[in-house]
Amino acid sequence: MSEQGEEQGNHYPAPVITIDGPSGTGKGTIAEGLAKLLGWHLLDTGALYRCVGLAAVRRGTPLDQGAALGSLAASLRIEFDAERVLLDGDDVSTDIRTAAAGEHASRVAQWPEVRRALWRLQRDAVRPPGLIADGRDMGTVVYPRAPLKVYLDATPRVRAERRHKQLKEKGMDANFSDLERELAERDRRDRERAVSPLAPAEDAVVIDTSSIGVEAVLARVVDEVRRALPDAPLSTEPAA
Ligand code: C5P
Repeated sequence: MSEQGEEQGNHYPAPVITIDGPSGTGKGTIAEGLAKLLGWHLLDTGALYRCVGLAAVRRGTPLDQGAALGSLAASLRIEFDAERVLLDGDDVSTDIRTAAAGEHASRVAQWPEVRRALWRLQRDAVRPPGLIADGRDMGTVVYPRAPLKVYLDATPRVRAERRHKQLKEKGMDANFSDLERELAERDRRDRERAVSPLAPAEDAVVIDTSSIGVEAVLARVVDEVRRALPDAPLSTEPAA
């Protein structure tokens, strides 16, 4: 993407911490916990791709037409309102969380036209006092100069178990073996795509979360924040 090649030297208007990794590594939970501890903004970029996928399916835009999907992505109004995600004013918070929505997101995310349309929106999200951005290419492509980049990983089995539990808790239908297969396919597509493939940035702190709980992962990330951003205002309150 040309924007990435062109940008150099400038600082972001506020500090950014990136949290990348495949599905089911606890990225969302850690990003949310960290945003609370720091009192910073949170950007769930997976939700952006999920909104594009949902809009494409609803409007009948074929998922293999990059140019049309890019125009669609550029035309959407995606807003975060507390816990809710609004797509052109409609609350799609639940609709974008289904396994099918994840699959559609990963298919539209392969297109450079779609990534370009969402790039500006992501860069504009950097606002004081700071931003925690969660996704797949935050540290490698969208915020390459972030002072702290975290990459969370876990075994495929553990990730499928976590995603299964999450969907069940939300009252959504989920068959474990279907989910495990779908997750493996989605991860393969995310890792092998030509643009912005899922990979840790060279300077990322990589944490394997397979056998450690959320609290321990968050504590580890907080240690990294203290090291990389010694002036960051870390609250002493425990994360929710
Ligand atoms: O994180 P989440 O499961 O919500 O992401 C859904 C899909 O969106 C991912 O499988 C990936 O294909 C895509 N995505 C992406 N780049 C991001 C965030 C998500 O390609 N920064």
